[in-house]
Amino acid sequence: MAQHHSAAAPRRFAFLDTPWPCRAWISATVLAACVLPFVLAPLGHQHTWQSDTATGVLLVGLSIVNVEIGRLLERGISNSQRPHKALSAWVFAAALLLPTGWLLLVAAVTYAHARWRGMRVTLWKWIGSAAYVVLAGLAGALAAYAVLGDQRDLMLGAGGRGLAGVLVGAAVFLVVQTVLFHGSAYLNDPADEVWLRQTLASPSFYLTEAAVLLVGGLSAAIWTGGAWFVLLLAPVYALTQRAALHEPLRERADHDDKTGVLRFESWRRMALAGVERCHRGQRPWCVLFADLDHFKAFNDTWGHLVGDRALVAVADAIRAELRSADLLARFGGEEFCVFLPDTSAEAGLAVAERIRCAVGSTPVGSGSWVTISVGIAAAPAETDPSELVRVLTAADRALFRAKEDGRNRTGVELLSA
Ligand code: GH3
Ligand code: MG
Ligand code: MG
Repeated sequence: MAQHHSAAAPRRFAFLDTPWPCRAWISATVLAACVLPFVLAPLGHQHTWQSDTATGVLLVGLSIVNVEIGRLLERGISNSQRPHKALSAWVFAAALLLPTGWLLLVAAVTYAHARWRGMRVTLWKWIGSAAYVVLAGLAGALAAYAVLGDQRDLMLGAGGRGLAGVLVGAAVFLVVQTVLFHGSAYLNDPADEVWLRQTLASPSFYLTEAAVLLVGGLSAAIWTGGAWFVLLLAPVYALTQRAALHEPLRERADHDDKTGVLRFESWRRMALAGVERCHRGQRPWCVLFADLDHFKAFNDTWGHLVGDRALVAVADAIRAELRSADLLARFGGEEFCVFLPDTSAEAGLAVAERIRCAVGSTPVGSGSWVTISVGIAAAPAETDPSELVRVLTAADRALFRAKEDGRNRTGVELLSA
């Protein structure tokens, strides 16, 4: 997930403030999640030889242990507002093992515990997410039943049929869950769903989610086969969670705390890789340097805290003008740099102008405005990757000229290879 956190205090939307299609979507899915598990219960026949109560208690217990281990391991490392703590695993296991009515109970208890233990999400979103996993679990259960018939032991024989049931169920679960979360993400106000939209656009989310469902499937299978062996999963799962910390840590190391854009050192490494790709593909590229105008005076007038919020707003405004392959970093202070792969001089100049206009027309708090000066250097396709620094220096020169020419304008340097 690239550039995911913005330092602006997240605005919290009350349910009644969301657009009506979003309210209708949430209400309909919550209603469906409360009713369908009971309506469809007669279709479900797959469950373990173990008692339903023992199975339900086991799954809720595994969820609680998992959330608690996660808390111990993270200890403030990952402050991203993740909507779940791998909770789908246990709902999916419940879908495979228990009559469908149990889905509601397992989801409600595991979600309640996770929220109590620090899942930072507004109540209506929490209820919506729980409803989505219940419905996804229901769909996954029906798909798994279709494959499993009335086989009660998922590990029966060589386990082939059980495995097929788990895989089909997990795939359907993932698809339904994805569709339902997209409903929230795109029917609600974009400003309230920045995080969810970025998450849903990231392949790593689906990989993690698929792995989480497979843990649920594996737990269910072990429970129907060797029952108590399922306890061995807890430490294994803890290790997996530890491995999952790698990504938030790397994200944090690569990004600037204040604005959420890349740090310059990470930018330089990633831009170099991008320049090498352009070189191999014989495509031109550009580097852009931008510096806020009279920002010292802005701070003196409005104070440094408003200044900080302005920096965040500016970073967001610049990012909104870029493609996903472009790289945006905070060079330092109130200076930003951008790498534009596969970009000709004319296209790069157009981007620079778009950024300049976007920043100039973005309100940055307390009814104030800032302008930005931009320098752009365009490198032809033949440019050697070792020239990145030369191109950066040229963009800096172009910026200096834009400042000298009166600010709030774009300077250009065209380079020869
Ligand atoms: P110019 O148009 O020539 O760029 O004028 P300027 O005042 O922007 O230029 P200068 O580089 O002298 O000043 C940069 C100012 O940016 C100084 C500092 O107060 C402010 N600044 C740098 N980093 C931060 C930050 O993280 N937060 C805030 N609020 N201000 C910052
Ligand atoms: Mg400045
Ligand atoms: Mg400066």
